[in-house]
Amino acid sequence: MIYLVGAGPGDPDLLTVKAVRVLERAEVVLFDRLISAEILACINPRAILIDVGKEEGQQCEKQRQIVPLLLHYGTQHETVVRLKSGDPMVFARGGEELADLLEAGCDVEVIPGISSALAAPELAGIPLTYREVARSFAIVTGHGRDGLLQDWTAYARIDTLIILMGVKHRAEIATRLIAAGRDAKQPTAFIERASTPNERRVYATLADVAEGMVEAEAPAVWIAGEVVGLSLARALTQRSSGARRI
Ligand code: SAH
Repeated sequence: MIYLVGAGPGDPDLLTVKAVRVLERAEVVLFDRLISAEILACINPRAILIDVGKEEGQQCEKQRQIVPLLLHYGTQHETVVRLKSGDPMVFARGGEELADLLEAGCDVEVIPGISSALAAPELAGIPLTYREVARSFAIVTGHGRDGLLQDWTAYARIDTLIILMGVKHRAEIATRLIAAGRDAKQPTAFIERASTPNERRVYATLADVAEGMVEAEAPAVWIAGEVVGLSLARALTQRSSGARRI
């Protein structure tokens, strides 16, 4: 059996019980770059660990090796795990890997994880929906195929916009969102390395981001919407030591 497992945002306490059970009896684990040392420590100490993390520039090559490796180990071992950060089906090519494994005739089980898209804002006290403030949210990538960005007009009207992999192109994305009608004064937040000891939160308006005035580091979840400005989020922010305001 091959398990496609979500590891959550980083804090091992945010792994699901099912993920921990599978990791404890895994014989082989192929893991991604964002998997924390604390999570790796939950894996069966006798398991074969394979780092298939992708650095920029070598994504395609590494990605091509993953399914053949899973198939190879799948014929020799009973419990093979493909461990991905957050949720395995949210921007992690989990869908593509699942399709390839099923096509090859494998038995596959998906174990969902807590996506950073939800965990990062929630840990910062930012609700994704809120009565009379936000009735919808969208999770979108800021890093398109071949580095090209998508058409942002469709996202300008979503109440709460959650952007993954958006740090690099943040100024351009913000500019396009404002051009498409999103309020330039809208509060936004970058939550870097959410749920880890190095978590950092950066707050700024969309206009400030568009003007290139905002420092942020990947990996971060970027949230734009009126929910960021709720006093709820501010109160939690003031209490958290790592937080910084711009
Ligand atoms: N499947 C993952 C997303 C993989 S794409 C999930 O569901 O969370 C990688 C992107 O996820 C990063 O560029 C960043 O935007 C986000 N990310 C993952 N872990 C994060 C964390 N702990 N804190 C902030 N952002 C994170």
